[in-house]
Amino acid sequence: MNHPEQVPTLGASVAGLENSWLPFTPNRYFHEHPKLMASAQGAYYTNVQGQKLFDALSGLWCCPLGHAHAGIAAAISRQVLELDYSPAFQISNPLTLNLARRIAGLAPEGLDRVFFTNSGSEAVDTALKIAYGYQRLRGEGSRTRFIGREKGYHGVGFGGMSVGGMPANRKMFGPVMVPGVDHLPHTYNLSEMAFSKGMPKWGAHLADELERIVALHDASTIAAVIVEPIQGSVGVVVPPEGYLQRLREICTKHGILLIFDEVITGFGRMGTPFAAQFFGVTPDILCFAKGVTNGIIPMGGVIVREEIFQAFMGINAPQYAVELCHGFTYSGHPMAAAAGHAALDALEGGAIAAAAALIPVLEETIHNLRGEPGVIDIRNIGLAAAVDLEPIAGKPGARALKTFEAGIEEGVLLRFTADTIAMGPPFISTPDEIRAMGDMLRRAIRSAMAA
Ligand code: PMP
Repeated sequence: MNHPEQVPTLGASVAGLENSWLPFTPNRYFHEHPKLMASAQGAYYTNVQGQKLFDALSGLWCCPLGHAHAGIAAAISRQVLELDYSPAFQISNPLTLNLARRIAGLAPEGLDRVFFTNSGSEAVDTALKIAYGYQRLRGEGSRTRFIGREKGYHGVGFGGMSVGGMPANRKMFGPVMVPGVDHLPHTYNLSEMAFSKGMPKWGAHLADELERIVALHDASTIAAVIVEPIQGSVGVVVPPEGYLQRLREICTKHGILLIFDEVITGFGRMGTPFAAQFFGVTPDILCFAKGVTNGIIPMGGVIVREEIFQAFMGINAPQYAVELCHGFTYSGHPMAAAAGHAALDALEGGAIAAAAALIPVLEETIHNLRGEPGVIDIRNIGLAAAVDLEPIAGKPGARALKTFEAGIEEGVLLRFTADTIAMGPPFISTPDEIRAMGDMLRRAIRSAMAA
């Protein structure tokens, strides 16, 4: 445990603060309480005050192999002198093509074509554009509507924001959203599923809301449904048993594409390569990012069914015409591809299996917090878990902020959203480190309750 009295305060005198605008951050609070990391090794950060912090969310879910990974470091230092960049348009390189092959190999059967982006947001907007384009190419151009889900997070592009369902992310931008978007209800219901381990038994019927939306607008107007198999950013909302299967059935029945946003769940978080395999439900399009490079070089992408790719290839235009006018300067960046290969070597070489082995340890550790004052729900699935704290009346988020601050004093870097603490520890954690994380969280919750 770190001792706060020994920690020098940074004050508001950090050079550069006055020039910085931090994303998804209360900047005024940050200016008063800056938190700066100095280094990272394995499952730990060290901040500029010298405190060692367990990385309870693997960065932002994106560093499952921990930090300063030797294999990835070696791969990117080799790559920078070999081929540091190659144009993303009209040209590729063997490393990037081969990464597509490996990713398709890990993906559920039938998802064979990879389009690279640089982030999850870009992956989502790419998926929506491909979905609409595909419907149009197969003669269903009236299918312009998209369906997302309440509490969903799909990044910050106009498409992802529009299908997303986190009110705070949307409210400033209401009039400039993508039109024609509906939202399924979220599946979080405290009175039916509090303290559930894994998938709640209650709630599969909520998928039938899709039938209601389809009936309202007619299937001929709907291009795609997009959901995160597990809602991550909102605080690990787990799908009820049978729910995703039901969504799949309804989409298939009505010719609607199903898109899984696996930006968090992809590359092993569920103990399987993708959540699609964990749940036994295959989407038509799958979005990934984060873990593909262990977060070290930004990369994202979408994987689509071959039939979707072929629909674009069959267009009635000369062979030299671009089939999809979409892409990014850094799509399939060779540096990211090098990091990706090294990350996949580690993930396939035992790290996904290690994650699977840690799942019961995390489940037991986190549910041991039941009964702590102020804890109103605990849930977990795969190597992901969340603890809901009773909000302080009239101050939503304040309890979790106190817990986050107390966590740092204890030696753990937590992540919170509203009054939910979310955890997704690195796959390289030991069982003892997971238990120690639970102990630190327990003390942090107690001190936040006492404050
Ligand atoms: N989709 C999901 C499910 C995510 O969790 C995130 C990021 N947390 C994104 C999309 C956006 O990814 P990025 O921040 O890389 O744009």
